[in-house]
Amino acid sequence: MKPATKYIHAGANPDPSTGAIMTPIYQTSTYVQEAPAVNKGYEYARSQNPTRKALEDAYAVIENAQFALAFSSGVAATDAVIKLLAPGDEVICGNDLYGGSYRLFTKVFERFGIRFIYVDTTHAENVQHAVTAQTKLIWIETPTNPLMNITDIVAVAAIAKAGNILLAVDNTFASPALQNPLDLGADIVMHSATKYLGGHSDVIQGALMMNDAGLREKLYFIQKSCGAVPGPMDCFLVLRGIKTLGIRMKAHCENGRIIANWLRNHPKVGKVYWPGFEDHAGYAVAKKQMRDFGGMISFELKDNSVEEAKRVLSSTHLFSLAESLGGVESLINHPATMTHASIPREERIKNGLSDSLIRLSVGIEDAEDLIQDLEKAIG
Ligand SMILES: *Cc1c(COP(=O)(O)O)cnc(C)c1O
Repeated sequence: MKPATKYIHAGANPDPSTGAIMTPIYQTSTYVQEAPAVNKGYEYARSQNPTRKALEDAYAVIENAQFALAFSSGVAATDAVIKLLAPGDEVICGNDLYGGSYRLFTKVFERFGIRFIYVDTTHAENVQHAVTAQTKLIWIETPTNPLMNITDIVAVAAIAKAGNILLAVDNTFASPALQNPLDLGADIVMHSATKYLGGHSDVIQGALMMNDAGLREKLYFIQKSCGAVPGPMDCFLVLRGIKTLGIRMKAHCENGRIIANWLRNHPKVGKVYWPGFEDHAGYAVAKKQMRDFGGMISFELKDNSVEEAKRVLSSTHLFSLAESLGGVESLINHPATMTHASIPREERIKNGLSDSLIRLSVGIEDAEDLIQDLEKAIG
């Protein structure tokens, strides 16, 4: 089945009791049983809920996976993966991860004796060099936030396989419409469904997709034991969001391409970070493993000061100043003072996050209007 059809029909089965075409919001905590342990497969809603089941079926379909699990947020999904590990285990991670993943790893799980080793995964040999007998998991993100660094999933998957190590890929930025890590050899895909899957900035949710039944059992056990499950209303919203994923991503990519090229030719704009540029360091790998390059773009101003960035950030009208990404509406963000403010300035600049760096989540409005908005703001 072609993706556009898949997104609309994924997980959709008419409701057995009424024929409702959309799975209803089963707002219930428990299910009446005919006799002790005689039930319809539903006992208690932390363990099973029909709305969540429909969404989990949809999640599996859109990532070409055998199984999927829904969580109350992206970080709750990440948390569940790390709970597969034990004290003494090591995780090799990318060195420019989503800030919330970095915080979860360093501030929560290091206290439990799990070690995280951060390497530049854009060169797969750095991952190879960091492997030890204790390495149990490799955690990567591609493209990364906000510099759009690209990691070769196939190359890292080969290292993981050879070492009998699990590979998990945070696929939030690309979305399943642009990249399917399981097809490239990953063991687990993680999504912040808050972003492109929900797509309308109205829900917080996370997802894990996998092919191995044993791995699914372990993660399901963690999901029901730790309890970070999404409510049925949130599952309904993401189910609805997924239906338009194909057409939305097409529009995000089209607008992204137009705006990245426009920025690049603007006299006041410095470096533009977008993996669709042929001179982007990750272009060849991105072209190989992604279907298109997305609507996430970062750029520097030639006047590379926090003040000038702040002036631009407070002058847009269509681009709303906010954290998050992946919704139909365009957002603008200043990593230095917003999403990445907790990183000390020197370290931030060493990592390539300059004072004036601005990140755009290009929405699906008309590109001409978006450009006019940026033109007025940049001046
Ligand atoms: C937002 C985000 C997360 C965390 O997801 P939440 O739904 O906010 O918990 C993880 N990874 C990436 C790349 C994200 O953008």
